Amino acid sequence: MGKQKTVWDNPADLIRHLRPDHPVMALAPTVLQDRARQFLTGFPGLVTYAVKSNPDEAVIRNLVTAGIKGFDVASPWEIDLIGRLAPRAARHYHNPVRSRREIAHGLREGILAWSVDSRSELEKLFEQVPPQVNGQGVEIAPRFKLPVLGAAYDFGSKFGATPDLAAELLGLVAERGYVPSLTFHPGTQCTDPIAWESYIRVAREICDMAGVRARRLNVGGGFPSYRAMGVEPDLPSIFAEIRDTVAECFGADAPALVCEPGRGLCADACALIARVKAVRDGTHVFLNDGVYGGLTELPVIGNLDRIEVLTPQGTPRTGKRSGRVIFGPTCDSIDRLPGELALPDDVAEDDYIVFHGAGAYSVVTNTRFNGFGALTRATVMGFA
Ligand SMILES: *Cc1c(COP(=O)(O)O)cnc(C)c1O
Repeated sequence: MGKQKTVWDNPADLIRHLRPDHPVMALAPTVLQDRARQFLTGFPGLVTYAVKSNPDEAVIRNLVTAGIKGFDVASPWEIDLIGRLAPRAARHYHNPVRSRREIAHGLREGILAWSVDSRSELEKLFEQVPPQVNGQGVEIAPRFKLPVLGAAYDFGSKFGATPDLAAELLGLVAERGYVPSLTFHPGTQCTDPIAWESYIRVAREICDMAGVRARRLNVGGGFPSYRAMGVEPDLPSIFAEIRDTVAECFGADAPALVCEPGRGLCADACALIARVKAVRDGTHVFLNDGVYGGLTELPVIGNLDRIEVLTPQGTPRTGKRSGRVIFGPTCDSIDRLPGELALPDDVAEDDYIVFHGAGAYSVVTNTRFNGFGALTRATVMGFA
């Protein structure tokens, strides 16, 4: 028997050789590491990775190899995962609401950075977490919010204190001897740098209201990925906006900066390969994956239209594109992609649709509803 190939040149190569009948998430480690280095060299501060967006071990390991030294973790499971895969990395426990058992777990694991957005949860931290752990100061960062600006949907509806409350919390944190910092999240897939500018200005106002100098400012995730054909994310402009606004608002008092991208780091390093199960009476396209699988996010943030349609031989379909209704495999009627997606007219049963930029909030939200969702992983050299 010949040696089994385990790394494919690109999705077309994989399709040609495997003809997979279940959905496949193809990771390109080189693309992931390049994106990590773009953040590490371009962002003026510490880059941490929001584990929830894609906690696959291959993703975490490649980020560590590229030089990522910090992680935003939101649960004991994520704390333990990073403790195992990146034992020397910083872990920021940035879920502002935690049970007392979860706090105890974080404390046992040596967490030194926490966020809060309410008096009740700050009180819980004061009761359980001392201001110093192993001789190091413990940071507590109030998380604040503004009305949504330029993001794909509103993150502020669940988490974030008003600026007034954030100032009150920041004052309490400093008074009790913890390291006072601030954090925000402008909303996911935030394509407009103006969002960061507004938040940073308000961060300065919060510090003034509290009469406290924030030691660090975490500017969140929200960095966009390449989701819509022709609308490439402009990370350098966002980094420049952040750097310039912090310099203008804080001058010599500037807090150290931290960011915690999820989508912006991992999304473009993966492509989801789904198979066409049927073209029902020449119209509706049924795929072997849908909103209960790797395409969970689409109804909330819109279609991922960076797609290729390939034959089982891995050659592109080149017919004229027109809008099609696309359904997932389950028997639930909400298992449908939003609106229509432009597909080539010659799309046929057993073809493959490759969704590029599908690495975030996809493997991790995949369910086995209705017995579907047997998603496998693969490695590719690239996507072209
Ligand atoms: C989800 C989350 C992130 C990552 O958000 P992206 O939009 O994927 O970059 C960062 N920080 C916190 C606190 C989060 O909850």
